[in-house]
Amino acid sequence: MYSITFEWIENEQLRSVKIHMDGKTKNPHAIRIGRDDQQCDLALPQSEKTVSRLHLEIFQPDVGSFYLRNLTKTNPPEKRNPAIVDGQLIMEQEVPVQVGTQVQVGKLTITLKAIQTTQAKPPVKPDPVYILKCNNLRTPHELPLEFTGSNCPYCGHLVLKPTYVHPIQ
Ligand SMILES: [Zn+2]
Repeated sequence: MYSITFEWIENEQLRSVKIHMDGKTKNPHAIRIGRDDQQCDLALPQSEKTVSRLHLEIFQPDVGSFYLRNLTKTNPPEKRNPAIVDGQLIMEQEVPVQVGTQVQVGKLTITLKAIQTTQAKPPVKPDPVYILKCNNLRTPHELPLEFTGSNCPYCGHLVLKPTYVHPIQ
């Protein structure tokens, strides 16, 4: 799992957004950028008319590598709204991006400030639960675990091994 932090200046304010590429983005394995918050994970303000509704996406073809492609579609296709990646006009091609890459969409310049690996936390295993009872079939006594292998202090019956009980998840 990865997260990418984007930074840009909007209305003379530095904005910073961290987006997790965790399969829950609008398009799994990609982070979409544009003006339409229905389609984009990084939704730029509606007032930025130079930015397309769905402008570009950053996707992950392999573990640890990120590429950018232009998603604007027009007819004719050469009239696409470009994305400019580190000064390179991106229309059809896919280009690698990394920390420090600057992406110009319309009049906004977005910097890939950080790419972080986010490790999924392993589920916390609950402690196993054991119940120890003496061997008295009629009235088994529940005993602390230290009585394992000894005799029941109440009835003298042998105390065997504790029984493992699945803890409630
Ligand atoms: Zn007993």
